[in-house]
Amino acid sequence: MTGLLDNLGKSKLFYLRALRSMPGGVNSPVRAFKAVGGAPIYMERGDGAFITDIDENRYLDFVGSWGPLILGHAHPTVQRAINQTAALGTSFGTVHENEILLAEKIKRLCPHIDLIRFVSSGTEAVMSAIRVARGFTKRDKILKFSGCYHGHADYLLVAAGSGLATLGIPSSAGVPEDFAKHTLVAPLNDTGAVETIFAKYGAEIAAVIIEPVPANNGLLLQSRNYLSFLREITKKYGALLIFDEVISGFRVAPGGAAEYYGIVPDLATYGKVVGGGLPVGAFGGQGDIMRLLAPLGPIYQAGTLSGNPLALAAGLATLEFLENNDGWRKLEYETREFVQNLRREIRGCPVNVTTIGSIFWINLQPETASKAEEINPANAEKYGVLFNRALSLGIYMAPSAYEVGFVSTSHSRADLADAAQKLAIIIKAL
Ligand code: PMP
Repeated sequence: MTGLLDNLGKSKLFYLRALRSMPGGVNSPVRAFKAVGGAPIYMERGDGAFITDIDENRYLDFVGSWGPLILGHAHPTVQRAINQTAALGTSFGTVHENEILLAEKIKRLCPHIDLIRFVSSGTEAVMSAIRVARGFTKRDKILKFSGCYHGHADYLLVAAGSGLATLGIPSSAGVPEDFAKHTLVAPLNDTGAVETIFAKYGAEIAAVIIEPVPANNGLLLQSRNYLSFLREITKKYGALLIFDEVISGFRVAPGGAAEYYGIVPDLATYGKVVGGGLPVGAFGGQGDIMRLLAPLGPIYQAGTLSGNPLALAAGLATLEFLENNDGWRKLEYETREFVQNLRREIRGCPVNVTTIGSIFWINLQPETASKAEEINPANAEKYGVLFNRALSLGIYMAPSAYEVGFVSTSHSRADLADAAQKLAIIIKAL
């Protein structure tokens, strides 16, 4: 392992070539490494907790494809499920058994889900859930929180996190103001702001959508009380509460944040883990709401590859493995141990490490944050240094100060102890 500066020859050549055929050389902006400097690294293969680039550098991976790979890379159980399914064909565009199996599994893990529909991405899941909320309530407005990212649908690119936080784009060009005019925005963890908005627009609000574990603008953990307040105020005004569990679903607990906090949303959206590394999203909730979807009701939603057999096989295998191997409990224990080791090593440094389940975030400031507005933008520059030094020591962190880290069941306690030590050395030298 020689590290970023000395041995990324092939990656650099590939990047120059990619720039000629794709905007910015990438298919999703954060992959361009703009926020951390340097050229993106071309990964060739993954095994367990590690990924290897085309120059044969091997890294302990804390990105996990941005969350889906809760079992790590090329997990044998998931690979077997994909291969066995692929041998029978890749897509039929018809109903098939894996849909029933995964839907039943989700209903068991998430008792608040009566009916679920599969789509191909988190973005689609959220767009569809919001359409359902609007159709059900016959209202137009939605309330979201600044720093929460819900995919790239036009009307949700308002005060969003993720790549937008990194790039400092307040919203996006190409979104007509008219499309965003029904989107209201409040800061996280602020009951007064939400009360004021409901007092003014209460009768027009179809839904409040929140990442119950906000993880796209750092990890801005909310209190159970706050989520419970949102549950109450939405009920009071006849609006729906949507939990966007694309990151937290099947990650922070078998039943996601709804189970973790013991709060039942009307609708929930899923992605990432539920597809085991293949493109899957899902949205679901109470039967009386979901039954408004076509073909039962008037709300249209469809997809050529929705519920793709390969993707659902990967998701099913992932959830079954976690269930059969006490996965969530072990992940939480090992992540907590890792974070505690790191915190101990960097005691006295002006840095916060936040964690929930198998998610963590290194916040390069002394103050904790529960709203996007509490993060010092100057941290992003320091993070670039941390990222590049970690890379040269064989640790692949997210290429953005605002993205969280994910631990998989393939990360051994020894891998994590070693990473905590290396990260501590870097942080102390910042
Ligand atoms: N919602 C949340 C909470 C997310 O984190 C993401 C993606 N990071 C999305 C929605 C969009 O999912 P996708 O990228 O699969 O469209």
